Amino acid sequence: MDDQPRATVCLSFDFDAISLWVGGFGPPTPGTISRGEFGAVGTRRLLTLLERAGVPGTFFVPGHTAETYPEITRAIVAAGHEIGHHGYLHEDPLGLGSREREREVLLRGLDALDRVAGVRPVGYRSPAWDNSPHTIELLLEHGFRYDSSLMGDDFTPYWCRIGDVLDADGPYRFGAAVDLVELPVSWELDDFPHFAYVSRGGAVRPGLSAPSKVEEIWRAEFDFLYREVPGGVLTPTMHPQVIGRGHRLLMLERLIAYYRGHDGVRFATMGAAAEAFRHGRASP
Ligand SMILES: [Zn+2]
Repeated sequence: MDDQPRATVCLSFDFDAISLWVGGFGPPTPGTISRGEFGAVGTRRLLTLLERAGVPGTFFVPGHTAETYPEITRAIVAAGHEIGHHGYLHEDPLGLGSREREREVLLRGLDALDRVAGVRPVGYRSPAWDNSPHTIELLLEHGFRYDSSLMGDDFTPYWCRIGDVLDADGPYRFGAAVDLVELPVSWELDDFPHFAYVSRGGAVRPGLSAPSKVEEIWRAEFDFLYREVPGGVLTPTMHPQVIGRGHRLLMLERLIAYYRGHDGVRFATMGAAAEAFRHGRASP
């Protein structure tokens, strides 16, 4: 009997809360901060939804969120979900400017998660969904097992690399694979651009999609994976302050039921999916 799942679904939640609006996405005003506050309401609802469905989730929690909402952060752990690193104040690694500063932020986030919830995350998700030239090395230096910030594949995890060379005069040169699993993400499977309405400085991100549209996309991504990428991993990314609205939570419930209705589908934490990828493979 082959116990390899046909498909793995990793429901992931970036519990940015207020840190999103203070940490550069802002501006931090009473209005935007209140949107961050709603992330706490959304997280409580998600914990109920996941418990009812009996499925695990992975919550990427900035240190600032853990310190602002220690009880909810501990409730995530107590419910058996995974916690991943997501910066301290939702920093863009590229904006930190130096390896030293990036290391400080990494350590501050680790310290906050340890003090608040007693956890040492094995996974990291860049708050910007982009990495600096130092990020992968720093993650290796601090014992991380996986990253979930890049988009080099859709449903197939792969090894991260260091030492890529970008030369405008010739082909791109790929660096060496390293012992860190990438669990890729995508904007298509991110609730934020679909749903979040943001207006600032004259620019408007309209968002506010009907769930039916997103549900169609998230079903079809899964359908393709299920048919064409056996053993693939689906990694939808949600934000409690976005998915936590009632009509979107109902969509999430329907999607969980839809995925579950297929034979050989496993719901897993991202840490478990990364270890499954490692299983039977030689580390680079
Ligand atoms: Zn985030």
